[in-house]
Amino acid sequence: MKERLANLIFPNVDKTVEEYINTYKPRDLKEGAHVVRYAPSPTGFQHIGGVYAALINERLAHQSEGIFYLRIEDTDQKREVKGAIEDTIQTMYNFGMEFDEGMIGEEESKGAYGPYRQSLRKEIYHTFAKDLILKGLAYPCFCTAEELNEIREKQMAEKITPGYYGKYAVYRNLSDEEAIKKIEAGEEYILRLKSPGKEENRVEIVDLIKGELSLPENVQDIVLIKSDGLPTYHFAHAIDDALMHTTDVIRGEEWLSSLPIHLQLFDVLGFKRPNYAHVPTIMKSENGSKRKLSKRKDPESAVSYYREEGYPQVCVIEYLLNIINSSFEEWRAENPDVDYHEFKVSLEKMSKSGALFDIVKLHDVSKNLICKMKADEVYSRYTEWAKEFDPEMYALVTAKEDMMKEVFNIDKEGPKPRKDFGKWNEVKAKIFYFFDEEFDKEGKEDIELPKTLTLEAAKEVIESYSKAYNHNLESQEAWFEHLKALAIELGYATNRKEFKAEPEKFKGMVSDVAGAVRAAITHRANTPDLYTIMQILGEDVVRERFQKFMNL
Ligand code: GLU
Repeated sequence: MKERLANLIFPNVDKTVEEYINTYKPRDLKEGAHVVRYAPSPTGFQHIGGVYAALINERLAHQSEGIFYLRIEDTDQKREVKGAIEDTIQTMYNFGMEFDEGMIGEEESKGAYGPYRQSLRKEIYHTFAKDLILKGLAYPCFCTAEELNEIREKQMAEKITPGYYGKYAVYRNLSDEEAIKKIEAGEEYILRLKSPGKEENRVEIVDLIKGELSLPENVQDIVLIKSDGLPTYHFAHAIDDALMHTTDVIRGEEWLSSLPIHLQLFDVLGFKRPNYAHVPTIMKSENGSKRKLSKRKDPESAVSYYREEGYPQVCVIEYLLNIINSSFEEWRAENPDVDYHEFKVSLEKMSKSGALFDIVKLHDVSKNLICKMKADEVYSRYTEWAKEFDPEMYALVTAKEDMMKEVFNIDKEGPKPRKDFGKWNEVKAKIFYFFDEEFDKEGKEDIELPKTLTLEAAKEVIESYSKAYNHNLESQEAWFEHLKALAIELGYATNRKEFKAEPEKFKGMVSDVAGAVRAAITHRANTPDLYTIMQILGEDVVRERFQKFMNL
């Protein structure tokens, strides 16, 4: 009778579970190699938490000479977005992660354990489901939505665990004959697990991040195959991870509560359980409390944010490594120039609770990395970003490539390189004065003067300075000595001490004169070395800037 029922439900299954098990042979990898996966649903939105989880998987696989593969979990077809698979692949690639196996496009895949897209694995799930029916471990359930609601309401009224289990599982003990009759009469149904769990039992497991866990055994007759013929995530992942020989399921901790279901499914299906590691959710600190990074409230939750703002991907990765293992920071300090791939990610060392995501810290990490990049690299990365996000600057900067490389090289070679940029959208505000097109857009109100100088006083300084200006002094020191001599002549004190002693005697200090020149050339109070800036701009532009300043 079971066989009739199974054949009625799955008339097209023509393989046995053994055939599948024999097809997907154990992998021939070296001892200790991890086989892990990134298994997103193609919903189109790339959350930074996805990159974070993928990175943990990718590092674990590749630092152990294992396999990192991409499996697309598209069993909920309502949520699917076109192009999401390619977007996922591209995103991970941009963040330095390459899949060894799995989907390589919407339809194509590579690797011997496919298909790697759940919607293409229907026959496999059906074969295993059919087998469970034959073993009395699965049954069709004919409950309508209304009936399920009634059950839930009753449970709520009685204050007992909601769900479809035990005596509430009305079709659990329906005879096969009855079931066959209903199906033949065209009644709709889904397939459920006949859970062997007992309420008084617990399952013990060592989670590779959370440690020893003791959880109540699953008693729910969970859905295995939905009315559209597709499996639930629970059922699909167990079969996939078993057949693909995943050694470690490393996924977000939101799945922890379903773990008893998953362990039971592995047992019922006769599969060896993989290791599980539940990754703490990325949190944000707000007004002293922690909350999840929200897709709606926090722009930094979207991966696209980093690209748009111009954070180099490698900086985001470095920051994520900081969150994954706090020891990364120390390792980085000791190994300032080593590629991050050399750092060994360890699950045991991960914090067990919410990982705190701090965009300010990320920005800092990014500044530190950008300041170490050679000028040529800064130039090429910046222009690549600007091409897409600031075409105006792209045109200006690429028209003066040589000059820009000099600009990006200012104070770079010294022992303490400047940390001007944390992301590419900050570059413009710091280099605009190298371009008349941008400089001339500014008005009087944008000019930053030394606190002690009025615009009139600054103009007077420039009046004299422009007459005395010698563009051909060949060192910063010589340039400054020259400026200082003029400042003293104009009645400015050599230094603060001298000025403080007799303030009424002086118009200000030498630094004010330098500040006036800086304002005339750049409109800013803080810039890299002014002598270098003037040399890069060239004598003509410098003199024009003096003139423009005096005309203000
Ligand atoms: N498809 C699941 C998700 O979207 C994957 C969870 C897992 O990695 O097993 O989160």
